[in-house]
Amino acid sequence: MRDIAYNLPFFYGSISRSEADDYLRLGGMSDGLFLLRLCLRNLGGYVLSVVYELKIYHYPIERQLNGTYAIAGGKAHCGPEELCEYYSRDADGLCSVLRKPCLRAAGVEPKPGVFDSIREHMLREYARQTWNLEGEALEQAIISQAPQLQKLIATTAHEKMVWYHGPISREDAERRLYSGAQPDGKFLLRQRKEAATYALSMLYGKSAYHYKIDLDKSGKFSITDGSKFDTLWQLVEYLKLKSDGVINVLREACNNPSQPNEPVKPPSLPPNRQSVVGLACNPDGYTPEPFGGHRIHPEDTSSYVSPYSDPEELKDKKLYLKRECLLIDEVELGSGNFGCVKKGVYKMRKKQIDVAIKVLKNDNEKSLKDELMKEAEFMQKLDNPYIVRMIGVCQAEHLMLVMEMAAGGPLNKFLSSKKDHISIDNVVELLHQVSVGMKYLEENNFVHRDLAARNVLLVNQHYAKISDFGLSKAIGADDSYYKARTAGKWPVKWYAPECINFRKFSSKADVWSFGITMWEALTFGQKPYKKMKGPEVVSFIEHGGRLDRPAECPDEMHELMQECWTYKWEDRPGFEKVESKMRNYHDQITQKPTTV
Ligand code: AMP
Repeated sequence: MRDIAYNLPFFYGSISRSEADDYLRLGGMSDGLFLLRLCLRNLGGYVLSVVYELKIYHYPIERQLNGTYAIAGGKAHCGPEELCEYYSRDADGLCSVLRKPCLRAAGVEPKPGVFDSIREHMLREYARQTWNLEGEALEQAIISQAPQLQKLIATTAHEKMVWYHGPISREDAERRLYSGAQPDGKFLLRQRKEAATYALSMLYGKSAYHYKIDLDKSGKFSITDGSKFDTLWQLVEYLKLKSDGVINVLREACNNPSQPNEPVKPPSLPPNRQSVVGLACNPDGYTPEPFGGHRIHPEDTSSYVSPYSDPEELKDKKLYLKRECLLIDEVELGSGNFGCVKKGVYKMRKKQIDVAIKVLKNDNEKSLKDELMKEAEFMQKLDNPYIVRMIGVCQAEHLMLVMEMAAGGPLNKFLSSKKDHISIDNVVELLHQVSVGMKYLEENNFVHRDLAARNVLLVNQHYAKISDFGLSKAIGADDSYYKARTAGKWPVKWYAPECINFRKFSSKADVWSFGITMWEALTFGQKPYKKMKGPEVVSFIEHGGRLDRPAECPDEMHELMQECWTYKWEDRPGFEKVESKMRNYHDQITQKPTTV
């Protein structure tokens, strides 16, 4: 289980600040030379070390609660790689733009931290003993639960270290330090009588020194106003490098005699951290696969129910929202022509809900404003569990469209980043949900006109919602299609022939796009007609060409995809039929006996 930055050629792993300085000096100290290393204090954090005018600057990158990464005061990014890429385009407050990566020498791997060597073992033991798993199920559990468990295990990892002596008295600590050799910096860590407090005991000049370790309200450990750490083992590792507030750097560990022989047991959970295991999904919407087959169905989650299901809440529902009810976070979820989408919280009468806020960047541009208002008015009419619900519009510092949150982000990105962990059955389940949402649109005479995997957002790994109604239209009661007056900036690769040739848009045209969306999902986020340009695709389709069958595509899904790409719209199935085929196939695969 490697760090997500492991494959970056400028990532050095768990090295100290002075080691980073040495590498950069060796690298030539040109302006913008940079490297990335693990932060020794914050769990999951990094440090970006950058050269400017022959000086080295070190910027801590924190992993935030929602799973994004940011330099204090800077923009949030979904990973360290994306963050470095951003600062290579724009210095945005750093001493310099990142110009040149300081590459690791050939054959040099990122330096593993002390926790790296025991993490895998601890995860395995925890999963084995807490959930009683073995074999394939155990392996699956380790993969899927690792993000949650890693933090939990890291906070108790000191219990496995040779220098941790548990709840012994100060006198016992001194007895143990004085037994055998007594070099400066010989140390141990012990639990104090006061619950959940610890002390560091160290020898220096044959005398014993004891330091109380404070735990602040945010759960960080420190010694008398020194640096703060997420875990005790990070504090110890740091003090091995730097005598930050203590009399000497830590050198030789005073071994706990009972440590090596102790059976490996699941780490005990401090009461306030027990809830970590119970999390239904990560901030990025990735829900680990279940233990014992109890998967979370959308219907069992609160996000399945409309935020307005309570009639009390419905009383206040209006298109325009009050600014004071909206909290806007700095975290950006995505961006588009209109501006960016930010994370936020909307305070309703009785509850608060997480929201995504589309913020118009340039309020003076009337066409963009009109477009956003049209999208809002359209979305206001929709109420289906598989369609992103609009909460309302807020006209304040900018025009903002407030929608319910789908934290897993776009389907194509999700699948391409998690392809090794997501089964085809899971993909079929999500596609079925999209077909249910599209059937609802069809029944209500709406056409989406931009159905694509990028516009399917995930609430979690098992719950998809259709979004982006920027191009959508209502069809007149007597019409079967909408005719666009002009051809605009169209997603041609997702469009049926009659859209391109006659500007005719119907639910049948959405069915064609659904076929392309199926293909994107079943290839785990590949781009359709990769190397072809728009006009080439049009001619390819006219000549009877269609996308190839995805490698792992079940026969039933390939047949349906091809039906969606029936040339004549009159002969193409509608969503009623498509949904029924998806449902039948999904039922068929979920009823097959499981192999776990
Ligand atoms: P859009 O212009 O609607 O395609 O939005 C641009 C990006 O913002 C999307 O690709 C998502 O990453 C993000 N986004 C939009 N709406 C939501 C939402 N309701 N929940 C979470 N992320 C969203």
